[in-house]
Amino acid sequence: MNIKELDQKYVANTYARFPLTLVKGKGSIVYDDEGKEYIDLGTGIAVNSFGFADDEWIEAVTDQLSTLQHTSNLYYCEPCARLAEMLCERTGMKKVFFSNSGAEANECAIKTARKWGEINKGDGHTTVITLTDSFHGRTLATLAATGQEVFHKDFLPMPQGFVYATANDIESVKSCIKENKCCAIMFECVQGEGGVKPLEYEFVKGIEALAKENDLLVICDEVQTGNGRTGELYAYMNYDIKPDIFSTAKGLGGGLPIGATVLGERVESVLGAGMHGSTFGGNPVSCAGAISVISRIDEKMLASVKEKSEYIFSSLCGAKGIKSVSGMGLMIGIETERDVSTVISECRERGVLVIKAKNKVRLLPALNIEKELLKKAIEILKEVCATEQKETE
Ligand SMILES: *Cc1c(COP(=O)(O)O)cnc(C)c1O
Repeated sequence: MNIKELDQKYVANTYARFPLTLVKGKGSIVYDDEGKEYIDLGTGIAVNSFGFADDEWIEAVTDQLSTLQHTSNLYYCEPCARLAEMLCERTGMKKVFFSNSGAEANECAIKTARKWGEINKGDGHTTVITLTDSFHGRTLATLAATGQEVFHKDFLPMPQGFVYATANDIESVKSCIKENKCCAIMFECVQGEGGVKPLEYEFVKGIEALAKENDLLVICDEVQTGNGRTGELYAYMNYDIKPDIFSTAKGLGGGLPIGATVLGERVESVLGAGMHGSTFGGNPVSCAGAISVISRIDEKMLASVKEKSEYIFSSLCGAKGIKSVSGMGLMIGIETERDVSTVISECRERGVLVIKAKNKVRLLPALNIEKELLKKAIEILKEVCATEQKETE
């Protein structure tokens, strides 16, 4: 059996995989099992922040791997403490809880908000407002937080305690606050899985004002948008707000599983000993990878993300076959005249890997992708989008 057959026989059928087996990579280049080369604009869904097999990252990770691979949270360990310090110093937040994924990072944010509501507001103020078209993860609580019916329907009943406001409609947030006993409002500044849609600046500022007025927590889900992806270290920084909690994961470890729930001063003491935990959380190898990633996301790196973003927008906006371009930084959604799956597979045939978000082509290139490679890939994408649709399609 080849790898594809083996996978289809033994791996649970939850993924509609592209017909491609990847075997090795370097930077933004990756190779399949037939030795064919691709320019990768997907980074394993915004995870490989510095591409494949980055030398600096490998050194940081392997140094830690050959020293101490795991301790559990029964003991102190340096990488976990250093990473928490780094995240707090870069954001002005106070404390970090480490887990292993985006869903878990959000789970902790939700638990913290509920407990905070109970302590500070009482009387059952534990409801979290989220937005339509949001995505917050696949555990039951984070699914319930996800404002997309399609994700709920197979797994009813959903956990209670979530209500959905319409994205970019501040009146809808107001009525959610009025009609429910709320503790927090949680959102992605750029909705990723929902179609790479940045929230409007005024809407986000409006949420901040309503939260202040009504004594609610602001929670930013920075799982996909975080760690330099939007041209700032965290996407909320583009909106001049300061959340009480933000969660992050994907790009943080540069390819290793890690989640972080970062807590501001209003919530830093909400969780006490024994109230939450994770066996693998704060794993030294994952933390060493994350320290390497975060320490490289400096002003220069962020400026280059913005510059590459401008290049992509200016080269795609108004191009033949392209209906719209949305997003922020190196998180971009493209609405094409041609069927999105056809565009993705033709790009792949021509050596460019792009992914999908709803009805859009999604680009999430490595933060350090070389300009030449990016240009080459964008030209191919443009040609594919401009191709006249064949009769049979
Ligand atoms: C991917 C994603 C998640 C879930 O992360 P996992 O690591 O798959 O659990 C949560 N929120 C957002 C915004 C995401 O993009």
